[in-house]
Amino acid sequence: MSWVRMSDFPDTDLMRPSPLVETPAAIPPELVELHGFGRTATTRSHLAQIDSVAGAISALRKAGDRGVVPRGLGSSYGDAAQNAGGTTLDLTNLNQILQVEADGESPTVTAQAGVSLDALMKALLPFGLWIPVLPGTRQVTIGGAIGADVHGKNHHTQGSFGTHVRSLDLLTADGDVRTLTPAGDDPDLFWATVGGMGLTGVILQATIAVQRTESAYFVVDTQRCGDLDELMATMSQGDEDYTYSVAWFDAVTRGKHLGRAVLTRGNKAKVADLPVKLRTEPLKFVAPSYGTVPEVFPNRMINRATVKAFSELWFRKAPKHKVGEIQNITSFFHPLDSVTDWNNVYGSNGFLQYQFVVPFSEHEAFRRCVHLIVGSGHPSFLNVLKRFGPGDPAPLSFPMPGWTLTVDLPISEGLDRLCTSLDELVVGAGGGCYLAKDSRLGPETLRQMYPRLDDFLAVRHRVDPDSMFTSDLARRLRL
Ligand SMILES: Cc1cc2nc3c(=O)[nH]c(=O)nc-3n(C[C@H](O)[C@H](O)[C@H](O)COP(=O)(O)OP(=O)(O)OC[C@H]3O[C@@H](n4cnc5c(N)ncnc54)[C@H](O)[C@@H]3O)c2cc1C
Repeated sequence: MSWVRMSDFPDTDLMRPSPLVETPAAIPPELVELHGFGRTATTRSHLAQIDSVAGAISALRKAGDRGVVPRGLGSSYGDAAQNAGGTTLDLTNLNQILQVEADGESPTVTAQAGVSLDALMKALLPFGLWIPVLPGTRQVTIGGAIGADVHGKNHHTQGSFGTHVRSLDLLTADGDVRTLTPAGDDPDLFWATVGGMGLTGVILQATIAVQRTESAYFVVDTQRCGDLDELMATMSQGDEDYTYSVAWFDAVTRGKHLGRAVLTRGNKAKVADLPVKLRTEPLKFVAPSYGTVPEVFPNRMINRATVKAFSELWFRKAPKHKVGEIQNITSFFHPLDSVTDWNNVYGSNGFLQYQFVVPFSEHEAFRRCVHLIVGSGHPSFLNVLKRFGPGDPAPLSFPMPGWTLTVDLPISEGLDRLCTSLDELVVGAGGGCYLAKDSRLGPETLRQMYPRLDDFLAVRHRVDPDSMFTSDLARRLRL
């Protein structure tokens, strides 16, 4: 058994403070403005920095009528980690990696909830260990990854983050700390916490099953698909051969090239797969940084013309068909992480990320959604298509077997109408929207999208009858 503390690692200062917390001078010092990654729906709350378990318990005791919500790095897009007029618990100082069990058949890591996946990855790679599920950014905490039950490009092969959690310590509204496991004394509370958006309590620490890896590189196949039909057919037939699969698609070009895409699929590289020059340090973490985007962009920077030009360039620069390319973590997984605060390009109005899933059998409804988006005139450049595998038992977890599409839409006139039309198609197809990205659904639509909502609410009311844990999202959705 190997014991590791964050302070043993030279890179611990890479745990960055939440970049989205601002305290403008005009606001009383005890209140801060908070928003999500989409930079919309800013609200003010008291921000309590949690440094210890005792500090977390004390913050609960001091909570007023407006309650508390836990917050990680604020990388959810909407209002999930803010609590207007109440208290927001900033967990990012609970950032110790407590234990790495690197020996034996089933390696695990135990870490406090505020450890970012970025810091965790840097700590684990020297042991030849790999985090089984990584979302599109490493700037999320363990608490946030469990709270939203995040998924990666490998959902079809590995499931979502909650599947890999072996146990977690949860501080509940009564001030108790309960250790929960997927099949222990209270599995319902465990699974309500996974994907529970911080509404069952504060996750203090968790033990996560991790995987062995020989390298920090990937063997990647890239292929261009000329339209939506070709893309869906290629992914349907081939994804099982790859651990990771994702397609960027063009959401502005209409006509016969509608849905043209660049499909990127890969597997972890073994040392023998690497070129000789990379074999000396196969576990080296490569993550170049290209600086920070300042807050100087006008609201209409991302418009139909710029997005069309970007999309054309992006499609043309991708290889028509390339097999066996070795890519590092940043280029394969997290190109966006190399530019800090890139969301500033959307200007002060911000943007909305709409992510939905519909079952595989509903491919016609899926096609209608794509046609609606492309024909709407609302431009989106960052469009990601994946195929989900089976979901986990968590009643509020988003993934289910089916097609999932993500589009980033700048806030502009008529956007809510588009999203409401999409909601109708998604509900009609038995699908749903992802709460970690949401900032606009209403309670009735949520109920239609999440058929197990009552299971979640029953657990939530059992452990927190007075709704001490609440958030802007919870109030909006009447959770
Ligand atoms: C560029 C980008 C790409 C992304 N790509 C993906 C993707 O591919 N897949 C995906 O699934 N998601 C993706 N996301 C969303 C992101 O993974 C989730 O929103 C994640 O929850 C953010 O983690 P966080 O630590 O910032 O949590 P926050 O945003 O601060 O909080 C998210 C939720 O978790 C709860 N929470 C946070 N900490 C705790 C805790 N200690 N205890 C209990 N609850 C807690 C909060 O109350 C809130 O409800 C992406 C986000 C960005 C910005």
